[in-house]
Amino acid sequence: MAFVDVLDQTGPCQQIRRALQQQTLAHGWLFIGPSGVGKRQTALALAQSLFCASPRQLADGLVDSCGGCRSCRHLATSNHPDLQFITAAADKTQIVVEQIRAANQFLAMTAMEGNWKVVLIDDAAAMNESAANALLKTLEEPSPQSLLILLTTTPGRLLPTLRSRCQQLRFSPLSTATLVHLLEHQTSVDQETRQQAAQLAEGSIARALTLCQPELVSVRDELMTDLAAIATQPLAVLCDMAEKWSERERFQQTLLLLRAWLRHNWQQRPVSRHWLDYSSWLEQINRTAIIYNLNRQLVLETAFIRLQRLLQVN
Ligand SMILES: [Zn+2]
Repeated sequence: MAFVDVLDQTGPCQQIRRALQQQTLAHGWLFIGPSGVGKRQTALALAQSLFCASPRQLADGLVDSCGGCRSCRHLATSNHPDLQFITAAADKTQIVVEQIRAANQFLAMTAMEGNWKVVLIDDAAAMNESAANALLKTLEEPSPQSLLILLTTTPGRLLPTLRSRCQQLRFSPLSTATLVHLLEHQTSVDQETRQQAAQLAEGSIARALTLCQPELVSVRDELMTDLAAIATQPLAVLCDMAEKWSERERFQQTLLLLRAWLRHNWQQRPVSRHWLDYSSWLEQINRTAIIYNLNRQLVLETAFIRLQRLLQVN
C-alpha cells in the first residue's frame, strides 16, 4: 500500500509525507475518523515508506514507497517482520496489558529488514486502563527508530495524556463517487444497488460493502417501506414495527439503516436542531446498545416514536 493508492485522504497523507521528507516524524501518531475511510491503509502506506529500500519522488516533490522492493512486497503480503498489528483478541472486547508489553518489547528490538520498527493499534480505544498506561510509558520514552500508530473512531475514549503525546490526524468520510468506484471493483451487485449503498454509507467503504450484501438489500427495501409510512402510523403500529425490527440478528442492521436513511433524507431538508439532536442520539445508541445490552425493542420503540415526532414538526 503506497500513499498514491490511498483515496480521498490527500490532507493527512501530505502531512505525513512532509514529515517523512523533513525527517520530523513523530514517534506516536493518532489517526482519528470513521471506520472504513482509509486510516489503516494510510498507516500501512506510512510503514511501507519507512521500510522501502528505494523510495521514489512523486510530482509534488514528496516521496512515496516504490512498491517493488523486497520490503514493499513483504508488506503487501502482510508478511513484514518489522510491523506488528495489535487488536483485541477474537473472543475479547479489550486490548490487554500483555499485548502492549509484547509490542513494547518488539519496538525495542533491532529491525530485521530496515531501520524501523512499527506497531499499529486498531482500535486504540479498545485498550483497557492498564494497557493504555503501559503504552503511555512507551510514548514517553520511545525506542529510537520506532513508530506507534494508533487508529480510533472514538478519540474521546482515550486517555487525554495519550492523545496529547501523539501527532493527531483527522480523516474525513470518502466521497460517494469514490465509494461507487470501490464498490465496482469489490462487489458484483448491480449499478443501482451500488449507487444506493454509496449514498447511504456515510462515506465508509466498510458500511457500503455491508449495505451491498444480498440479505441486507432485501431487509433494506422492507425497512425503507416501513419508514416511508412512519409519519402517520398509530402508536400500535410503531410498537409492532419495533418488535419486528428488534430481533437479535436484525437489530444492528436496523440501526445502521435507520442512520443511513436519516442522513439521506436530511440532505433534502433544512437542517434543524431537532434533526441534529436525533441524529446524535441515534449514533450514541448505536455505540452503546450492544455494549450495555439495552432492551432492543424499547430502543427501537423510542427511535421510531421520536422519528415520527420529528417528521411531524419538520
Ligand atoms: Zn520499496
